[in-house]
Amino acid sequence: MASDKGCSAGDPTLRRRIEPWEFEAIFDPRELRKEACLLYEIKWGTCPKIWRHSGKNTTKHVEVNFIEKITSERQFCSSTSCSIIWFLSWSPCWECSKAITEFLRQQPGVTLVIYVARLFHHMDEQNRQGLRDLIKSGVTIQIMTTPEYDYCWRNFVNYPPGKDTHCPIYPPLWMKLYALELHCIILRLPPCLKISRRCQKQLTSYRLNLQMCHYQNIPHHILLATAWI
Ligand SMILES: [Zn+2]
Repeated sequence: MASDKGCSAGDPTLRRRIEPWEFEAIFDPRELRKEACLLYEIKWGTCPKIWRHSGKNTTKHVEVNFIEKITSERQFCSSTSCSIIWFLSWSPCWECSKAITEFLRQQPGVTLVIYVARLFHHMDEQNRQGLRDLIKSGVTIQIMTTPEYDYCWRNFVNYPPGKDTHCPIYPPLWMKLYALELHCIILRLPPCLKISRRCQKQLTSYRLNLQMCHYQNIPHHILLATAWI
């Protein structure tokens, strides 16, 4: 599924790809960038062709832009299945979660899988509920890990010739922190990940505050896998 030919000038996917520096900065799980970016792929019915594109926030959030674009360009037929995968730099805010839930309600043939690099304002209860509502609507949400970063690099980034394997490597710790917090959200537990930012120096610190309820409710194998116990 990944292309190893590099991005030559004749590559038809070139104009849909983002630049390496953009990917590296915007999808870095350690950086709380303001910009949001969506990399997405769509498959219709049994057609093997995959449509790939990217989008950024405009006056509206990327998720809403996507929904408006796809519903204006395509007449959905309830008998045609459509499978969509999103790679998002930030998880959807509660308003976008609402828009996505409504979109899926109107389009029962659509399945959506979302990979996110970071959780957007994850302490906000509305955002937490929004993600739970998405899951309730059948959406799969996961934190991006190394294979997803690698996949995005190959398929969505205008990487330099011969650099198809040169995807930026991020420390897995941040992916684990966000994965653990996502579990807390799904299980309706209080936040365990605290992110604070010192405004002047722009230093961001990540702190883990595991409470008894976390130990009691988060499955043992997940705590083990995330190396917290
Ligand atoms: Zn939003």
